[in-house]
Amino acid sequence: MIRAILATSLLLLAACSGPKRTSVAEIEHGSQPTSAPVKKEETPQPEKKPEPEKKSAAIKRGKLEDPAEPEQKRALDIIERVTGLKFKTPIPVYIYTPEDLSEEMKDWGDGYVPENVMGFYRPDTKTFYLVPKVAGNNRSFGLRVHEATHALQDQHFDLVKLHESVKTSDADDALTALIEGHAVQVMIDGLSDLSPHVAKIAEVREPSDKHNPNAWSTVFYYAMGANFVQHLLKNAEGYPGVHMAFGRLPVSSEQILHPEKYLGELDLPHKIAPDFDAIKAELPEGWKVKEVDTLGEWQTRLWIMSSEAAYGAAADAAAGWGGDLEITLVRDDKPQAWLKLRITSWDSESEADEFCEALALMGTTVHYTQEGDKVLIVSSSEPLGTLPCNKLERAMGKSKFE
Ligand SMILES: [Zn+2]
Repeated sequence: MIRAILATSLLLLAACSGPKRTSVAEIEHGSQPTSAPVKKEETPQPEKKPEPEKKSAAIKRGKLEDPAEPEQKRALDIIERVTGLKFKTPIPVYIYTPEDLSEEMKDWGDGYVPENVMGFYRPDTKTFYLVPKVAGNNRSFGLRVHEATHALQDQHFDLVKLHESVKTSDADDALTALIEGHAVQVMIDGLSDLSPHVAKIAEVREPSDKHNPNAWSTVFYYAMGANFVQHLLKNAEGYPGVHMAFGRLPVSSEQILHPEKYLGELDLPHKIAPDFDAIKAELPEGWKVKEVDTLGEWQTRLWIMSSEAAYGAAADAAAGWGGDLEITLVRDDKPQAWLKLRITSWDSESEADEFCEALALMGTTVHYTQEGDKVLIVSSSEPLGTLPCNKLERAMGKSKFE
């Protein structure tokens, strides 16, 4: 679950490219990694302990900026003033051409869209990279503030360690939203004199390309992340309260979407322990477990939205999420085949009812059973038949819920 690169996408165009751009409606695709479970082998692995020699070895491209660059000093001063934290070490900045960037991104794997990346920070090199030709003059300074804020986070909170500490897609989504939300909010607070429209980022609730999950993920990490941070600023004594969240991470995307569930009465996701023996006994032959993950409210919503018919019901249906466990199974004889068993629990039976109403719209490829406030779902690339699905769901219902 390591997101080694914090790439800044076109969402920031809204912030820095002129007063008329005030909503995601004018923003093109996002460039964040997809919100699908992070596949470890496809994600560049940060080095365990960055050493100075290794740092330079990992930097293959771009041009090192003059360390005396006045824009850099101005950016760091703004960040220190806004956050009350001091930079511990200088941050090297590399200037990339778009060609450098597309070379670099070949190493990153799927999920990044080269044209949309304006800059990024790498915790493994403790360095950030700007692509001024993509960002343009008007946006470059905001971008610099954003990326330098990631360096500040890393110097104080150790981003590699934080990403290593989270074990599910849901927890990783929550962490990424905190990290990006903080960097966006520092821009908002630091640049508001220059460009009041920067503040609009946190108000964005949907992308212009509504059927692009990557664009939705960008809205979640940047806009809803900033909204979460604003809630902490207001209710947890300003930036010191926000920085405490890096020591007590939001545990779930649910807490990002409903910040009162982080600060107020804690609403922790249910822990779900499946009865694997019971499930295995009902599995059609040939399937084996590939991974177990928790999707969380946000990815549950994205999953419902992937169905045209259920799209409009997704946000309400996913709200009331209480916990989930997703078991992904594959087969050796058919590499493309997949089977997903989702064990979900809801805050109440009526929340589970509402979720099932959305599932009913998703069509026959999704088979489900409701047991009170639990909903057990089987979906697969292969036709399994109703009876095996029912039996599997009964076995999934034997899970322990805490
Ligand atoms: Zn960022």
